[in-house]
Amino acid sequence: MQHNYFDTSTTIIASATATGGAVMVVRLCGERAIEIADAMFRGRQPLSVAKGYTLHYGTIVRTTGEVIDDVVAALFRAPHSYTGDDIVEFTLHGSEYITSEVIRLAIEHGAVMATPGEFTRRAFLAGKMDLSRAEAVADIISSDSAWSHNVASTQMRGDYSNRLSALHDELVRLCSLLELELDFSEEDVEFANRDTLNKLLQDIDDSVRELKSSFAIGNVLKNGVSVAIIGEPNAGKSTLLNTLIGDDCAMVSDIAGTTRDTIEATTTIDGIRFRFVDTAGIRTTDDTLEQMGIDRAMRAIERANIIVHVAPVDNPKYDDISIRDNQRYIRVINKIDTSTSSKFEADNDTLTISAKYGDGIDELRAHLRSVVDTSQLSSGSVVVSNMRHYAALSDAAEALNDARRAMRSGLPADLISEDIRRVIHHIGEITGEITSDDILHSIFSKFCIGK
Ligand code: GDP
Repeated sequence: MQHNYFDTSTTIIASATATGGAVMVVRLCGERAIEIADAMFRGRQPLSVAKGYTLHYGTIVRTTGEVIDDVVAALFRAPHSYTGDDIVEFTLHGSEYITSEVIRLAIEHGAVMATPGEFTRRAFLAGKMDLSRAEAVADIISSDSAWSHNVASTQMRGDYSNRLSALHDELVRLCSLLELELDFSEEDVEFANRDTLNKLLQDIDDSVRELKSSFAIGNVLKNGVSVAIIGEPNAGKSTLLNTLIGDDCAMVSDIAGTTRDTIEATTTIDGIRFRFVDTAGIRTTDDTLEQMGIDRAMRAIERANIIVHVAPVDNPKYDDISIRDNQRYIRVINKIDTSTSSKFEADNDTLTISAKYGDGIDELRAHLRSVVDTSQLSSGSVVVSNMRHYAALSDAAEALNDARRAMRSGLPADLISEDIRRVIHHIGEITGEITSDDILHSIFSKFCIGK
């Protein structure tokens, strides 16, 4: 049975776990969850008479009376559940067959298959969490390093939402002070001293800017630090990538131009994920295929947070490349094992390594890690890691700028408050107070089924 994505009256079912474990959990959620569960579950008592937050041992039986599996049912009664609805979670033996049979049976009894992210979307629509926390649920599930987990879990626990909600309250206060002044404009009274308003506006502006600027680190923690490995053909770039990653995912050979395309691999260094891109050797070529690789390499270099420029010890020259302000550039002299002379000089940003034999690799790793400054982040500090939020904060910052300009030029209160309302609007986009169905759809459709 198909159901409308925005209809929350249906009772939905999905597996909440991936295959391969010893047990699997199937989650039934909605107005008829308990009734449908009772139609297929045989325990010591029907779930309809049981209290919430209780576990029940029993069996799942087909309509023919045949037992499918021995299960444990966990009962959550509305509104005290993840989504705010009645929820029954069956813990089954970890078999894909059993899981699909239980789901099929629930559908026979009137449940419908959940769409991606539907459980979390229901939780959001029921006011159980704001949108930023709902999005953090997806982030926490996909987090693959200590720091990305840290950022997502702070967001999910609500520290970020609390910060936004404090900001929202301040903005509303500012607006009401301005609008109060407006109500009494005939009498030419200034209710709020302009200095006080200015100070309030300044504090809000600082707060928005701080959140906005945290995206630089937040984005890196969530998506990983991108490192482009560049250099002439045969400098040892692929060998370096293999050594850093620890397996043979890049092609290594003596023929110049072997790395025809960019090769990407990730590894975690001290809780931070790094994404290494081994670029095609950049040189003039007539080979179209190689040229495509070179173009791609150029784009990878533009996007990288860190550029590692590799040159062999017998020819340690580095062509000039343009580096953006926020990019870090590290020179690496490779094949140190083949040299006995000291005609090269290592300094703070030039490291000497042997990609093939591993000399200097730990130092390079440590150097890469030191580029990411996490010293400002105590656990629990609020960091913006979501592109959608960053865009909304940028819009909010722009509206705040307009408000400050209006205030400075002594414009009437109603114009200033209009700008402040725009700021409130953009903050509301992050928490989901102001969100279109399309945005909700695009956010939750990226979740897996069962979340
Ligand atoms: P790329 O074209 O820059 O990716 O270079 P490769 O990684 O394919 O390496 C080119 C050649 O240099 C291969 O034969 C590697 O085994 C060799 N090579 C790479 N690094 C080292 C090193 O540290 N020491 C020595 N002796 N040979 C190396």
